[in-house]
Amino acid sequence: MRTSGTLYIVATPIGNLEDITFRAVRILKEVDIIAAEDTRHTRKLLSHFGIGKPLTSYFDHNKHLKGEAILDRLRHGASVALVSDAGTPCIADPGYQLVRDAVADGISVVPIPGVSAAITALSAAGLPTDSFTFIGFLSSRQGKRREQLSALKAEGRVLIFYEAPNRLMATLGDMRDIWGERDMVVARELTKIFEEFARGAASEVIARFMDRQVKGEVVILVAPAEELERGNVGTESLQNALSRYLFVEGLTLKDAVKRVSVELDRPRSEVYAEALRIKS
Ligand code: SAM
Repeated sequence: MRTSGTLYIVATPIGNLEDITFRAVRILKEVDIIAAEDTRHTRKLLSHFGIGKPLTSYFDHNKHLKGEAILDRLRHGASVALVSDAGTPCIADPGYQLVRDAVADGISVVPIPGVSAAITALSAAGLPTDSFTFIGFLSSRQGKRREQLSALKAEGRVLIFYEAPNRLMATLGDMRDIWGERDMVVARELTKIFEEFARGAASEVIARFMDRQVKGEVVILVAPAEELERGNVGTESLQNALSRYLFVEGLTLKDAVKRVSVELDRPRSEVYAEALRIKS
C-alpha cells in the first residue's frame, strides 16, 4: 500500500528575512515541491536561503485546478510545502481549501509556524491581548464596509484588520464616523526599516497620516467597545453575533441563525426573529 505524503503549511517572513525559522528552511529544503502564491516572489526568498526546489503556483484563481494536482502528488507520496507571499498561509491568504481537502483525504497536514502580521502587530500594539477578533480585509466598497463596521460596533474584544495603504485613510474615517473616538493603533511596515506604530484616539491616528502618502503595508487594531456602548449584554450579544455572521462573514440567514442559536444557547425561533429584524 502506498502511503501518502505530507502537506506542510510554512510561514515565511513579512519583511525581515531573519524572521524565517530554522525549521521552515529545513522543510523547504527537504520537500519534493513548493506550492507558492507567486512563484517569482517566492523564488527570491528561496534563492536567499540557497533552496532550489521545484515551484508550482497555488493562488486564489487557480486553486481548484492546482489544488487537485497538488492533492494528487500528495496521494502518490510526495511531500509539499505551501507558502504564501508573506506570513502564514491561509491567514487572509490562499490555502484553506487545500488544507480542508487534504484533511478530508486523510493526508497529514503539518503547520510550520512563524510570523503573521496580525499577531506581530498585536504583540506590540499596547491594546488588551487576552481576547481579540481577527477580521482581515474589510470590503473595498464603502457602503458595504460601513455596514460591516456598524455590525462590529458593540464588539467587546480588540479588533484586528488588514488594509491596503491606499484605503487606510478612508477606512479610518469610516471607523471614526461609526465608532467615534475609539483608541486604535496602525502598525505599518512591520519588521521592515520604516516600521511605525501610530497609537491614539481615532482623530490622532488620522492626523498622523494626513497630508502624506501612506506607503507600505498596514494592520489596524481597534480597542474594544466600552461597556456603555455594548448596552444590554443579553440582546446586544445576540444582535452582534448575528450581524457578524450575516454582514461580515456573509453567511446565509439560515446558517447564521443555526450557528448563533447553538453558540449562544438561545431558541432558534428567537434567533430567527431577531435575524429577520436585523436584515430588514
Ligand atoms: N498571511 C499574511 C499573514 O499571516 O499576516 C497576511 C497576508 S494578507 C494578503 C496581506 C496583509 O497583511 C497586508 O495588506 C497587511 O494588511 C498585512 N501585512 C503583511 N505584511 C505586513 C507588514 N510587514 N506590516 C504591516 N502589515 C502587514
